[in-house]
Amino acid sequence: MLLYNTETRQKEPFTPIRPGTVHLYACGITAYDYCHIGHARSAVVFDVLVRHLRHTGLTVHFIRNFTDIDDKIINRAKKEGRDWREVGETYIRAFHEDMDRLGVRRADYEPRATAFIEEIQHLCTLLIEKGRAYATPSGDVYFRVRSYEPYGNLSQQSLDDMSAGASTRVEVNEEKENPLDFALWKSAKPGEPFFESPWGPGRPGWHIECSAMTEQWIPLDIHGGGQDLIFPHHENEKAQTEAALGTALARFWVHNGFVQINSEKMSKSLGNYKTIRDILESFLPETLRFFLLGKHYRSPIDFSFSDMEEAERSERRLYQAVRDVRAALGRAKWKDTPVPEEISLEWERRVAGYTAALDDDLNTAQALGELFALVRLVNKLLENKTLASSQKAKELFENFLSLLEVWQEELGILNDEPETFFSALRDIRVRRKKIDLNEIGLLLEERSTARKNKDFARSDKLRDDLSAKGILVKDTPAGQEWDLA
Ligand SMILES: [Zn+2]
Repeated sequence: MLLYNTETRQKEPFTPIRPGTVHLYACGITAYDYCHIGHARSAVVFDVLVRHLRHTGLTVHFIRNFTDIDDKIINRAKKEGRDWREVGETYIRAFHEDMDRLGVRRADYEPRATAFIEEIQHLCTLLIEKGRAYATPSGDVYFRVRSYEPYGNLSQQSLDDMSAGASTRVEVNEEKENPLDFALWKSAKPGEPFFESPWGPGRPGWHIECSAMTEQWIPLDIHGGGQDLIFPHHENEKAQTEAALGTALARFWVHNGFVQINSEKMSKSLGNYKTIRDILESFLPETLRFFLLGKHYRSPIDFSFSDMEEAERSERRLYQAVRDVRAALGRAKWKDTPVPEEISLEWERRVAGYTAALDDDLNTAQALGELFALVRLVNKLLENKTLASSQKAKELFENFLSLLEVWQEELGILNDEPETFFSALRDIRVRRKKIDLNEIGLLLEERSTARKNKDFARSDKLRDDLSAKGILVKDTPAGQEWDLA
């Protein structure tokens, strides 16, 4: 597999450092609010990366942390008059609920910052002993950025450029030797939660927790997160670990792109901030997953309702194909009719293309493209009665269903039975379009009565009324069936 490494700015062949086993660490959330669609993207990307690596036969130890102590958590607790621990618990629980709905599997290890205080302090001490960090009279500990020469390599910035930028951006702190130095340990202000330390009561800075949590696994095969974490978070993690322990933190640095909303940056201040919960009011969780996988993980992705509806239509085509293939396989007799060679050849090419796409820097967009090409071939066979009943078509249909298991396993999509999916889809669309189900129910009932009484003029009129409300009615031997137009 080729994987793009942020550190070298190129795709490189991926092989685990310890044969057969991969250690993958992705930075998790700061637990102070509900997750937004940017968190969803990162979680889905690393979920699929883990699933794909496992599918190739590798053992993957997947680690994702929770930052459970931080200014944002403390501020929220203060504002709501709650205990800071309870705030952390609340949003860690919400993270699990949201990600479970999106089919994101839990990490094998989910370390929390507050469980690593001893390790964090040990790293600080090591860094101070080595002259890479210093404690201030107020009880803060800072990393001495100038002492670590490769600082800036990951984010490709020189220390001098950063210094020039920092003179305008970074707040003045008299106790810092250099404005770029960052906090490893923060002294507690009155009333703030704290842990005892050699430097007085305080708590860890944000970056140091990841260095402490990864210590037992370094060098990691893959360290990942969103692009916004490259600087300063990952640059700082890398500097701390390498300066303290003399070992590389990670072999590959993998970062997913941003999520924009209607072509604008998503931010709380712009009011276009979308939580996963907001979106799942209007769409099925799997549709969101499907939408996120429709773009290469390194490209920015633009979220809009119309793109989500497009993803939903595509998803529906796939489920339809699964349903049709299953129905076609119910046939008792198959004939010896040959299937045109171009269909068989394209089939093989698409099947190989799917795996090749995931092996090429986890190109899920391309992989989905191959999947749709297979669906088009399925439909070509089904549309032609002669071909649809051929022995070769049967083989391809059976192959399609075994591929379906691979897609479920690796991409985490198409997990529902088609009937379950179509009924859930109808419900969510009804909710999204704010259709009054009571009113629809009454019209359907009236139409059913009209048909029983053979009042077809009335029944046709009701069909038109329903159609004007976006409801399509179909008469089947089992009675009326309806769906959204
Ligand atoms: Zn981190």
